[in-house]
Amino acid sequence: MRVVILFGPPGIGKGTVGNILSKKWNMPLISMGDLLRDNVKNATSAGLKAEAYMRKGELVPDDVVFEALSERIKQQDATDGILLDGFPRNINQARMLESLFGHNDKIILLNLVASMETLIERLSLRRICISCGAVYHLKNIPPKKDGICDICNGKLIQRNDDTPEVISRRLAVFHKETEPLIKYYDEKHTAIKISAEGGPDDIIRRIEGTNLWE
Ligand code: AMP
Repeated sequence: MRVVILFGPPGIGKGTVGNILSKKWNMPLISMGDLLRDNVKNATSAGLKAEAYMRKGELVPDDVVFEALSERIKQQDATDGILLDGFPRNINQARMLESLFGHNDKIILLNLVASMETLIERLSLRRICISCGAVYHLKNIPPKKDGICDICNGKLIQRNDDTPEVISRRLAVFHKETEPLIKYYDEKHTAIKISAEGGPDDIIRRIEGTNLWE
C-alpha cells in the first residue's frame, strides 16, 4: 500500500496536482475537504458536526474527519494506494493515519511550497463547479465559457471560504497547526519538498523527478 500525502497551504494546488497524479498513477485522490463538503451537503451526522467549523475556516474535530476517512478507504479503489489531500492536518491525525496501515506500507509527504502572493492569488481566482467539483483558476485554468464547467456544464462558484478574511484565517491555521507535520515526517525521512510555483505541468515534472519510493 502506498500513501502519498499532498501537503501544503490552502491554494497551493493540491487538488489540481492530485487529480493529474491520480490518473497517472492510478490511485484515487481523496480530498478531505470534498469528503466533508459532501457530508455537509447530505446533512450526515459528520456533516452536521463539521459545518460550523468549516464556515469559520477552523479545523473540524479529529474524530469526525477520521470517521469519514476510514469509511472512504474501505472502498475497492483504495486497496493499492491513495493520494490524500487535506489529511493529516495535525500530528494526532498523522498517528491516526498510521493506525490504518501496516509496517510495510509507505507513507510519503509531498511538501508543496510557494510564496504568499501566489497562494492568495490562486485562492481568490479559484472557482469550483457546483455539480462535479472540477477546479478552475480564472487566469491559469479558465473555463471555456464564463461561469460554466467545461466537463458537465455545471455552474461555477467561488467557495464560501475563499473570501479574503477566511483565506487569511485558513493560512494562519495552516501555519500554526499543520506545519509541525513537516518536522514529524522529516524525522521519519519521508518528507519531500517540491516548489509549487508555475503551472501544473511544472509541478508534476518536479514530482516525477524525485525518487519517491526509494
Ligand atoms: P480544504 O478544502 O482542504 O481547504 O478544507 C476545507 C475545510 O474543511 C477546512 O477549512 C476545515 O474546516 C475542514 N477540513 C478539511 N480537512 C480537514 C482535516 N484533515 N481536519 C480537520 N478539518 C478539515
